[in-house]
Amino acid sequence: MNITKPASTKDNLASDHEVVREFLDRAKTSAALGSQDQDSLIARIKNLLKAKNAKLVAHYYTDPSLQDLAEDTNGFVGDSLEMARFGKDTDAEILVVAGVRFMGETAKILSPTKKIIMPTLEATCSLDIACPADQFKKFCDAHPDRTVVVYANTSAAVKACSDWVVTSSIALEVVEHLSEIGEKIIWAPDKHLGSYIKKSTGADMLLWDAACIVHEEFKSRGIREMQKIYPSAAVLAHPESPEAVLEIADVVGSTTQIIKAAKNLPNNDIIVATDRGIFHKLQQIAPHKRFIVAPTAGNDATCRSCANCPWMSMNSLQAMIDCLAEGTNEIRVGKDLAQQAMVPLQKMLDFAADQQLKVRGKA
Ligand code: SF4
Repeated sequence: MNITKPASTKDNLASDHEVVREFLDRAKTSAALGSQDQDSLIARIKNLLKAKNAKLVAHYYTDPSLQDLAEDTNGFVGDSLEMARFGKDTDAEILVVAGVRFMGETAKILSPTKKIIMPTLEATCSLDIACPADQFKKFCDAHPDRTVVVYANTSAAVKACSDWVVTSSIALEVVEHLSEIGEKIIWAPDKHLGSYIKKSTGADMLLWDAACIVHEEFKSRGIREMQKIYPSAAVLAHPESPEAVLEIADVVGSTTQIIKAAKNLPNNDIIVATDRGIFHKLQQIAPHKRFIVAPTAGNDATCRSCANCPWMSMNSLQAMIDCLAEGTNEIRVGKDLAQQAMVPLQKMLDFAADQQLKVRGKA
């Protein structure tokens, strides 16, 4: 397995972990609200969205109140690819992105004339943090014969030095396609997703060394113990989880693919290895089923996330009012950088559209 980082040393890795830790320490989760307070904040946000011709797009990992609000106001809830597509297609002047920073940046790159705001600009991602553009560019320059494929969970600057941007819902298909036409690949930043794709496609891939702090905590031993308690349960896992977890999963897929599988599988009990924010949608689409959070650190209790992304949790109703009312927390991406990052993003969107047509054509 090639997991690489320029001048890779244990010290480098340790310092990356420290940097992630520092960001984590700054991530403040919003306080729980009473139902009256929540209702009044929601009413204010609805008015503001209307008055400002704004639409809310929320990721499946955000708080259920935000997901409901997005759907109630004709906004959108989805994975990062779907969020990007919705943002591009909507005619709203302002897009409020409830998620993490790279999602806001992607929305801005795809919709340069729209104003993109976020409840917080502090909400980041351990994958983005652990893939600084200057180091990544050096790494790519050292392997000029390779096609550079980066995960959407990266900064605009990293996207700009790539050939393809992919989300977890389409990564496998894109790499398979590239491998079929003989391309050798650099993959960044998630090593677990990269290793899963490499194993599934047999592609020649060099992997960057970074991980999602939420998915990395899922433990196969804990899931096996849980299977003893729920023997008929299916296991659904996001491919950012470690290999040992993916090996015992019945379905490995992106958030949207997990939701689809949860609906279609005959099992009534389903163990889910991804952020617990998704349980809101799972319960909506299959209310009669029992969804169980996959265990994280278990007895070792080293869990830093416990199936809940601390940065996604920073998106609060109050923060949304503040950014909407004041027009603050605007995402800005320089014109040249946006144009460069748009090229690999557009390739993904075109590829996805083409795949969609093929699927429809077969139906
Ligand atoms: S859940 Fe993981 S991949 Fe998603 S934003 Fe949080 S840290 Fe990043």
